[in-house]
Amino acid sequence: MNQRLHKLQAWMKENGIEVSFITSSENVYYLSGFFSNPHERLLALAVFQEEEPFLVCPGMEVHDVKSSGWNQEIIGYSDIDNPWELVHTSINNRISTVRTVAIEKEHMNVERYERLTSLFPNAAFTSAEEKMRKLRMIKDAKELKIIEEACALADFAIEVGCSEIKEGRTELDVLNAVEYALKKKGVTEMSFSTMVLTGANAASPHGNPGTTKIQKGDLVLFDLGVVVDRYCSDITRTVAYGDINDKQKEIYDTVLKGQLAAIEASKPGVTAAVIDLTARRIISEAGYGEYFPHRLGHGLGISVHEYPSMTETNQLIIEEGMVYTIEPGIYVPGVAGVRIEDDVFITTDGAKVLTKFPKELQIIR
Ligand code: MN
Ligand code: MN
Repeated sequence: MNQRLHKLQAWMKENGIEVSFITSSENVYYLSGFFSNPHERLLALAVFQEEEPFLVCPGMEVHDVKSSGWNQEIIGYSDIDNPWELVHTSINNRISTVRTVAIEKEHMNVERYERLTSLFPNAAFTSAEEKMRKLRMIKDAKELKIIEEACALADFAIEVGCSEIKEGRTELDVLNAVEYALKKKGVTEMSFSTMVLTGANAASPHGNPGTTKIQKGDLVLFDLGVVVDRYCSDITRTVAYGDINDKQKEIYDTVLKGQLAAIEASKPGVTAAVIDLTARRIISEAGYGEYFPHRLGHGLGISVHEYPSMTETNQLIIEEGMVYTIEPGIYVPGVAGVRIEDDVFITTDGAKVLTKFPKELQIIR
């Protein structure tokens, strides 16, 4: 069995958990190597302290599970089977008493929870999420290599985006060109809906790209990520189309200063809070504190948002092997929106920056 499953089993033993019933695609993938989006159908991995784990999936996916490398029991069900009965039997075949079941409370829905409670009426339910987040937070060399590839494609996407900024082009025109270029390179999935925002639209941290035309003197904000082998990258660059005014320039320089300082502050042993506050203080001292309304960043991996959460109150100690984003922003309504985001990997020496597109203000002519 793989190391990840062993770590989960050790945690189950320590905490007296007989069954972990994992149902999110991301965690099933992390533990089993099999990824699927089963939509409304049941996908689950049942893990026990000692007994063989089993994976339950739609019958039509059994072949894919085998080719993914999962070599333990697979329970495939048809659309007319009741998968819950199969789950019940398979668990009872392994263990006689189920006192505590770990589930993903944030992921499981009420309907499934009710089914599980009726199958195991005397069991207590506890959360597996915190443990799974901690396991996933530290990346191994193989994961890092994949994320680096995803980051290189994100850099390429920004490069394409910059070359597509031209008179008369809309946000969506540029967005389409970026994604088209990525698809030609074999990319099948983005980490989230690509953002190309210009002018006043960029002053909303989560704006929606539309038919606004990019105009000379505007800042253009790209926020995008590429998925490679299930792992996400996430980059933001803000560039100028033609000459911008002093206020826009001042905002850009402030964000960049904060971003660089937070990268510099990133190393094992410091808290997430200290890193967030490093950027936040610089932005506040420049008078823009109220215009930086979100956390500094977030962990990155199979999910585009995972642990660690880089907030000004998170006392979590940064460790070697973590991957997270550093993405301060300043959004002044009606004036400008600037965000600069890199993905970093923590080594003994500090942060290795994985996204490499230049950060000195790019002026597109
Ligand atoms: Mn982003
Ligand atoms: Mn991000």
